[in-house]
Amino acid sequence: MPTATSSPLGVHALVWVGDTAPDSVRTAVEKTAKAGFDLLELSLHDLDNLDVPGTRALLEQHGIQVACSRGLAFDADVSSEDLEVVARGEKLLHESLEVVTGLGGTHLTGALYSALGKYGAPLSDAGRANVVRVLQDLAKEAAARGVTLGLEVCNRYETNVVNTARDALRLADDIGADNVVVHLDTYHMNIEEDDLVRPVLEVGDRLGYVHIGENHRGYLGSGHLDLTGFFHALADIDFTGPITFESFSSAVVHRTLSNDLAVWRNLWDDGEDLATHAASYMRNGLAAAARRS
Ligand code: MN
Repeated sequence: MPTATSSPLGVHALVWVGDTAPDSVRTAVEKTAKAGFDLLELSLHDLDNLDVPGTRALLEQHGIQVACSRGLAFDADVSSEDLEVVARGEKLLHESLEVVTGLGGTHLTGALYSALGKYGAPLSDAGRANVVRVLQDLAKEAAARGVTLGLEVCNRYETNVVNTARDALRLADDIGADNVVVHLDTYHMNIEEDDLVRPVLEVGDRLGYVHIGENHRGYLGSGHLDLTGFFHALADIDFTGPITFESFSSAVVHRTLSNDLAVWRNLWDDGEDLATHAASYMRNGLAAAARRS
């Protein structure tokens, strides 16, 4: 029987660097390997600066897997009722998929269905229909490229499309593609779900990607989240997908993404210490949870 520790363990690049220019990517890949992770998650908010073949070569050189994440923007948003805004969002998604393939990645995840930010009204039926249509087309193209799409469940202040695991299951049902999976993040779950266990069990084998973050997105174990319960739940469903550590501090800032994520506080200065600690916290927690007696 597989154990939860068979998951590749990842770290979000914003623990290391605020952009994806070549020097920054080199730093991120080297530090990811040194801190003991298997995978680097690159946000695609900085596509213009990203040297795709160069990044792929660096990743291969260090034996590091890659996953990509992103949200959309209010002027490029597939949940809009304005078809021009939807088309701009759709274009960003298809460009992002091409980058994932170019990097040798197998996962594109995040808020692929909306902007990352506070909406002033609930999602409309027309907007939701646009999300479903765009993601059905994207999923077809992704399947041909061997890429899995993750629907990251984000809290109410960052999207109005999927706030709970159940919302994501319903959206995935409507998209109806095998390569569209649910992505849970403990930081968002803390705000929206009843606990950190039931959503994992409810999503079960449709869970395809996980973000681990504390309630304040600082050091793992320094907040109040029931991460032990969460690790047990992952073990109970024999989860083997990527588990990526997300943490943000005003010490490392991306010019737009950090503002979208409301990163105003300094929760740490030393990304290496933070990430080395996180890697062992995750490995130990997952291994302990997998030892079922
Ligand atoms: Mn996340």
